Amino acid sequence: MLLVVSSPSGAGKTTLCRRLRGEFPNLAFSVSYTTRKPRSGEVDGKDYHFVDKDTFQEMIARDEFAEYAMVHGNLYGTSVAAIERALSAGRDVLFDVDYQGGEMLRKRFGEEVVLVFILPPSIAELERRLRARGTDDEATIARRLRVAREELRHYHEYDYLVMNDDLERAYDALRAIYVAQLHVRSRMEPKARRVLESAGPETP
Ligand code: ADP
Ligand code: 5GP
Repeated sequence: MLLVVSSPSGAGKTTLCRRLRGEFPNLAFSVSYTTRKPRSGEVDGKDYHFVDKDTFQEMIARDEFAEYAMVHGNLYGTSVAAIERALSAGRDVLFDVDYQGGEMLRKRFGEEVVLVFILPPSIAELERRLRARGTDDEATIARRLRVAREELRHYHEYDYLVMNDDLERAYDALRAIYVAQLHVRSRMEPKARRVLESAGPETP
């Protein structure tokens, strides 16, 4: 499964995704490449691969991205190799990407992709959270709030919508979506077939 989580900046997807990864070790996080500068506390190779514009452009030319997009004036991209490594190791992959990334991943990987959109309770609360996070300057916050309206308009392209008013409730919903999706028949079919095979041939 490719589990994609998107939201306007500040709605809480990093917080929710971190918790989901912590609970489900079989869920690999797709560490994106970005030309954005690291925020304090962010670790290169863990939160993002922080690269310069030239490196990013070279990766585009070598076709190394499953998708990439310009978001808030910076480039962000998902590495194909990392997805393939995780899937061939039998792991699911979690993506924190914007709506452009979600759309591209759905086009490329079809029904393996589950799209979840995190809604903030309001734009005023989004602004409060961005300020409380304390990682962005005023110009960056203003830009993120401007883009938030555009991002919110894309909620209808998603399979699931999770309202992050109360963090515990939102986490329970995200967790329930992941667990339910693990049990969709097409994903369980190989296991079901093995059980059936273990029953041996039909006796007349
Ligand atoms: P995003 O990854 O969507 O930009 P973050 O996960 O960084 O958002 O969350 C933005 C800020 O809001 C963080 O300081 C986080 O601790 C806080 N936050 C997340 N969810 C909630 C919530 N339900 N209620 C209050 N604050 C929240
Ligand atoms: P931030 O700078 O707050 O970490 O992320 C800004 C936005 O970029 C978020 O909406 C986040 O989901 C998105 N983003 C992060 N990585 C990628 C990526 O690899 N591809 C795309 N399309 N968007 C990404």
